[in-house]
Amino acid sequence: MVRAEGVTKRFGTVEVLKGVDLTVRPGEVACLLGPSGSGKSTFLRCINHLERIDGGQLWVDGDLVGYRRQGDKLHELKAREVAVRRRDIGMVFQRFNLFPHLTALGNVIEAPVRVLGTPRDKAREQAMRLLDRVGLTERAGNYPSQLSGGQQQRVAIARALAMRPKLMLFDEPTSALDPELVGEVLDVMKGLAADGMTMVVVTHEMGFAREVADQVAFLDAGVVVEAGTPAEVLGSPRHDRTRAFLDKVL
Ligand code: ATP
Ligand code: MG
Repeated sequence: MVRAEGVTKRFGTVEVLKGVDLTVRPGEVACLLGPSGSGKSTFLRCINHLERIDGGQLWVDGDLVGYRRQGDKLHELKAREVAVRRRDIGMVFQRFNLFPHLTALGNVIEAPVRVLGTPRDKAREQAMRLLDRVGLTERAGNYPSQLSGGQQQRVAIARALAMRPKLMLFDEPTSALDPELVGEVLDVMKGLAADGMTMVVVTHEMGFAREVADQVAFLDAGVVVEAGTPAEVLGSPRHDRTRAFLDKVL
């Protein structure tokens, strides 16, 4: 679903990604760990067409990100084409970024109605199913300001799912939450994983990584230092840098 080979990304003269290699198979949950500034968010943003890579190759669902193949030629995507590709990728951020003037239900039906042209009735039906899936049926009529952080984040997940994405990206989805609200969001993510969603999750929740991830990748200074099963990377890390990081967070 995602394949990165030698992906590099510079901001000005600073190279933030220095050759990232990572493969995430369909249905797999990959957790990205790494210190602050190692390039985790930047890498997710590259997958989601929010940043342009400078070197290497990055595929999502068989397509080279940013390009369309015609015969043996590659054409750069136009903004409209990028928007179409991005529909297949759901992203959930640390801050929930819900539309404050829309209810939970309104937030979930917005994109299907506006972007996909789904009839409002049908979108509402689907949205209620999604709100049920994240445990918020009772909250459909509430505005974000009337919801807890955990509830808002669950609405954000339902909103992303409303576009029926092939891939979900999570960038520290629980780091802005009070500790007692973390579990409810992780439970929703576990449910998604169990349903076979392909997910790339930047997180410091080691319990989640250990329990749910098929693959854990440790990123440091713009490269994947090591990747493997949770047991391999968290249980018996091969690299000093991984070990030093885990000693700090565990
Ligand atoms: P954190 O754990 O703190 O979220 P991260 O691993 O997600 O860190 P990134 O946000 O990807 O790290 O940032 C990697 C580096 O790139 C940092 O040094 C950051 O300052 C720099 N950076 C990120 N975005 C930009 C930008 N738009 N312009 C310039 N530098 C940037
Ligand atoms: Mg980040």
